[in-house]
Amino acid sequence: MLEDKNPKRTSVSDLGEFGLIDHLTKYFDPIHESTIKGVGDDAAVLDFKGHKTVISTDLLVEGVHFDLSYTPLKHLGYKAVMVNISDIYAMNALATQITVSIAASNRFPLEALEELYAGIQLACKNYKVDLIGGDTTSSNKGLLISITAIGKATDNEITYRSGAQPNDLLVTSGDIGGAYMGLQILEREKEVFKVNPNNQPDLSPYSYIIERQLKPEARKDIPQLLKDLEVKPTSMIDISDGLSSEIIHICKNSKVGCNLFEDKIPLDPQVISTCEEFDLNSTTVALSGGEDYELLFTISQDDYPKIKANPHLTVIGHMTAEGEGIHLITRANTKIPITSMGWNSYSENNNETEKD
Ligand SMILES: [Mg+2]
Repeated sequence: MLEDKNPKRTSVSDLGEFGLIDHLTKYFDPIHESTIKGVGDDAAVLDFKGHKTVISTDLLVEGVHFDLSYTPLKHLGYKAVMVNISDIYAMNALATQITVSIAASNRFPLEALEELYAGIQLACKNYKVDLIGGDTTSSNKGLLISITAIGKATDNEITYRSGAQPNDLLVTSGDIGGAYMGLQILEREKEVFKVNPNNQPDLSPYSYIIERQLKPEARKDIPQLLKDLEVKPTSMIDISDGLSSEIIHICKNSKVGCNLFEDKIPLDPQVISTCEEFDLNSTTVALSGGEDYELLFTISQDDYPKIKANPHLTVIGHMTAEGEGIHLITRANTKIPITSMGWNSYSENNNETEKD
């Protein structure tokens, strides 16, 4: 669907490995005091001066995690950073640095890698993250991107999946299910394009959900918001695989149960209308879709007055004793056990994968 409008193709081998790293990273300037040494030596040097260091890594593989027929490389670079720093925010920490490693086949000229790095650079700028290192190498087939995100937090701020207590409230940021429905639109248009390459689809009715899929934004604002509201979450996780599997992670790690209320799940109107169009149940999409990169967390009931009027936050349930199990309370007030429907990269029927 996406035509290559840039006919210039410079072979990466013309630059050599060191030339390539220099070329791709020359416009990245570190801004954090904690970055003592970034790109340019054998290793980076960081100093968090008494803060704890938080580290998370993700690997993205072409054909498994992304499809370049509808994903512009600049968006892919941006999203790859979001996927990683989202895990840092999910620890209630501040993302400060990343390393980026890529393996690309000779199908990718220098200009393509420049596009990818333009997206990485925009993400670094918007989220105030320093690129401090990485590696580039060739691949026999396709594109691989591995990003390590580093962040900092005080001992008191760091929030694990394991701290939820019975009677705590379950809260999500933003709305759920948009990225999955955006993917359904892009996959549908890809099939239409195969049959009729001259077809120009009107995607404007789906602009929000397509953006949720192609250019997600990590919730950097939420840890800061909670700090400002003087709310210390008791547990936290980011929603990468769908609400159900994230709730199960919190419940298992915290040894609690949960009641999730169907009528409380925040859905964008575009998610609701597109679900109707595809004859999908919007609750199922929210539970098992994935890639929303919102933050899901629990708070003590005492903190409820501090968050209740906030437009970014929605209480969607509460935690229970472990023995009570994990349930969806439907609009009809029936109780349905929640099972993990998070996507599995080893299943043959889908092309998504679980991400921490
Ligand atoms: Mg995660």
